[in-house]
Amino acid sequence: MTVRPTMISTPTATTETPVARICEAIHARRRFLITSHARPDGDSIGSQLAMLFALEALGKEVHVVNADPAPEHYMDFPGMDRIEISRTVHSDVEALIVMECSDLARTNVQGLGGRFTINIDHHAGNTGFGELTWFDESAAACGEMVFTLIRALGVPLTKEIATHIYLAILTDTGSFHHSHITPRTFEICRQTVEAGVNPAAMARRVFDSNSFGKLKLIGAVLDEMELLDGGRLAALYLNDEILNATGTTYNDTEGLINLPLTAREIQAVVFFKLGADGDIRVSMRSKYDVDVRSVASGYGGGGHKNAAGFTAKGPLDKVKPEILARVKDAIEAGIQTRPG
Ligand code: AMP
Ligand code: MN
Repeated sequence: MTVRPTMISTPTATTETPVARICEAIHARRRFLITSHARPDGDSIGSQLAMLFALEALGKEVHVVNADPAPEHYMDFPGMDRIEISRTVHSDVEALIVMECSDLARTNVQGLGGRFTINIDHHAGNTGFGELTWFDESAAACGEMVFTLIRALGVPLTKEIATHIYLAILTDTGSFHHSHITPRTFEICRQTVEAGVNPAAMARRVFDSNSFGKLKLIGAVLDEMELLDGGRLAALYLNDEILNATGTTYNDTEGLINLPLTAREIQAVVFFKLGADGDIRVSMRSKYDVDVRSVASGYGGGGHKNAAGFTAKGPLDKVKPEILARVKDAIEAGIQTRPG
């Protein structure tokens, strides 16, 4: 892995860098709307709320709007009550900050257009929408970028902000499993711990807060797991019957996809989640250089090398063979460069 230079200190405030231009745009405005992608994850929640607290520290008026509620285990984190769940926005703001989205459609929120828009993202394939784009694929989480921005804005790293930055990094690295983790990642985490974050408590809150129903769901889904490609590929399935039988909801599937990767042989996992509308949400995870993002982008989705997804039109039997064949190809290609 190439070790990138540590870019941790407050970036120099020249107007040449996207960070400096965003700082300037923020300082010049007062009313902000923050949003992120539909079905928010830890990085989108952490990035948005760290930004909310930072902007409020600067005396700004801030609204956060998301299309969907966060998974239950994030509900105790500071500022969660500030997220308004809505599919449309009407508020009259001076700037929109969109995080973690390759385009505005990823938000699933209507009415965002026509505003001065700041686009902050680390997903390859960002379309560069908005008046100001800051895109950094080398960031392990969007929360890393938010940290840099907050420091450049001159906002102190409070415990609340640090908590959300750490949440973003902890979850988006798959609890420090994915690629893209650099010295910068740990340097930011170091500073968040110094600001009062307790890593053990964070890991327990995020990963060890399952309901009994979720444990049953994990059991039911793993029971139906298919092993393919000589044990290198696992396929998981979810439908309403499994959810009803275990008394769980779609949100309870979070993190489940990572479990097959704990088997040494398994290099990639594909999770097919069947919606009542016939749509199939396809989530993928992989190890090392097995690139599932390339598979997702072939179906109009996106993500990262080790974590990606897309939505396909059913029926499952029709689309499944081709998807699995493409993941098998990705395993074959990625395994060549496997570290020892
Ligand atoms: P998920 O499997 O839903 O947890 O998503 C894994 C990663 O892929 C995340 O970084 C998502 O933002 C990204 N992703 C999932 N679905 C899509 C999509 N339809 N378009 C773009 N990115 C996606
Ligand atoms: Mn992210």
